[in-house]
Amino acid sequence: MAQQEDVFKKIVSHCKEYGFVFPSSDIYDGLGAVYDYGQNGVELKNNIKQYWWQSMVLLHENIVGIDAAIFMHPTTWKASGHVDAFNDPLIDNRDSKKRYRADVLIEEQMAKYEDKIQKEIEKAQKRFGDSFDEAKFRATNERVLENQKKYDDLHHRFQEVMNAPGGIDLEGMKQIILDEGIVCPISGTRNWTDVRQFNLMFKTEMGSTADGASTIYLRPETAQGIFVNYLNVQKTGRMKLPFGIAQIGKAFRNEIVARQFIFRMREFEQMEMQFFIQPGTELDWFAKWKETRMKWHQNLGFGAENYRFHDHDKLAHYANAATDIEFHMPFGFKEVEGIHSRTNFDLSQHAKYSGKKIEYFDPETNESYTPYVIETSIGVDRMFLSIMCHSYEEQLLPDGQTRTVLHLPAALAPVKLAVFPLTKKDGMPEKAQEIINELRFHFNCKYEEKDQIGKRYRRMDAIGCPYCVTVDQQTLEDNTVTLRDRDTMEQKRVAISDLRSIIEDKVSITSLLKKLL
Ligand code: ATP
Repeated sequence: MAQQEDVFKKIVSHCKEYGFVFPSSDIYDGLGAVYDYGQNGVELKNNIKQYWWQSMVLLHENIVGIDAAIFMHPTTWKASGHVDAFNDPLIDNRDSKKRYRADVLIEEQMAKYEDKIQKEIEKAQKRFGDSFDEAKFRATNERVLENQKKYDDLHHRFQEVMNAPGGIDLEGMKQIILDEGIVCPISGTRNWTDVRQFNLMFKTEMGSTADGASTIYLRPETAQGIFVNYLNVQKTGRMKLPFGIAQIGKAFRNEIVARQFIFRMREFEQMEMQFFIQPGTELDWFAKWKETRMKWHQNLGFGAENYRFHDHDKLAHYANAATDIEFHMPFGFKEVEGIHSRTNFDLSQHAKYSGKKIEYFDPETNESYTPYVIETSIGVDRMFLSIMCHSYEEQLLPDGQTRTVLHLPAALAPVKLAVFPLTKKDGMPEKAQEIINELRFHFNCKYEEKDQIGKRYRRMDAIGCPYCVTVDQQTLEDNTVTLRDRDTMEQKRVAISDLRSIIEDKVSITSLLKKLL
């Protein structure tokens, strides 16, 4: 685990050193859990967004996009339930003065029991080799059974307090923390305050205070911008059910525990798609979207074993089924995307609060009804982090040296091709520029002439550039160059006129999209 934490620290500093992610307002020592994307980060981020957007809007005839404003009428958030219920239970440690999410402390305790079980299994696996029977071991080993019981009891109690009839049972939650002997990781003590609810929405004012400014919120999710536009899009686009509306945009949450770099930010970006369907078909569509979204993730080639579904025990006030797609980060399996069956909760609430009829007239059944909704909701920043974590490698080379390389999927890499003149003489820089001038319309190219070729390769490896080309003496004679592959480090001689056809297909988003069909 310590080793994994080290790796994570290295990834965070790599992100800064190579222009991917900087702390916000860095010269003022940053702002808690707010980050800026640098020259390479913004390219990677834009590519992620394009991969998502095109997989939704280009590949589905019945999905269209919108771009709603961040500010919305304040009643939106009353109707959606966010004013009353978008709360996290928080608890303070009196000694360290640190604040925690009480539910997260309990979840971490459950994860500890799971870890203990996993360690026993791994130990036994090593001991027994091929003859190891995991199911039998789980059913008979005393230490596993003991930890499983602790896990099950805690899980049961946790579910009870989270699903208490009048909302989360805050006293019950504190009691669990005390009974489990959970200590503050900073002070190491059990000197806890009571658990309180904390609303995560940021407030601001619109208009001048003199003429009675109104309180408005920075949206905590992009979804509501889609719900309030359902009628506009359905009517003007003559959309027939089932159909979807996709959107990418900023969301804001005043997170209590803002740790783990860009995993939990106060300002972040979401890619959400609301799919409007006939009531009664929601579980089929829920299953279908689970499969579609998992395929989108696995299509990046990071290995199926690094993903899992985590079905929710506690359903949000609007949902009748929900799951997370989790990715194996250096700090464990963590949520990257949520898929929720939101029933007709949001549209009905907006109908109630706005006094407008928000329905769909189904020409096939001659009936009007409020559509149900399946939502897929993914954080751009968490996706970015998962890609960085998986791509980062400190590789030991056969000659004993190491190189730091980002094995980014070529279609997402910020720079696709770097072109180097071997020396700054004999017209090589001009030839290199000529190559760039031709290819820059097709993909992102970078010119580099400083330092030895080996150093230039390393710099390109560190930003995940999949191809490098070197212009040398021979180029001037026969118009061929050496093309070097980032992952295999193999070099081959190719004609300049073939470069585009060799590279373009491999680095385009289209290459990823084709594999989805
Ligand atoms: P968590 O349980 O981690 O707080 P959530 O279940 O509240 O997340 P959703 O409301 O389902 O998250 O939001 C959908 C997606 O938006 C998440 O899967 C995640 O990728 C992203 N997301 C949510 N909160 C943040 C945040 N504070 N920073 C970065 N991304 C976030």
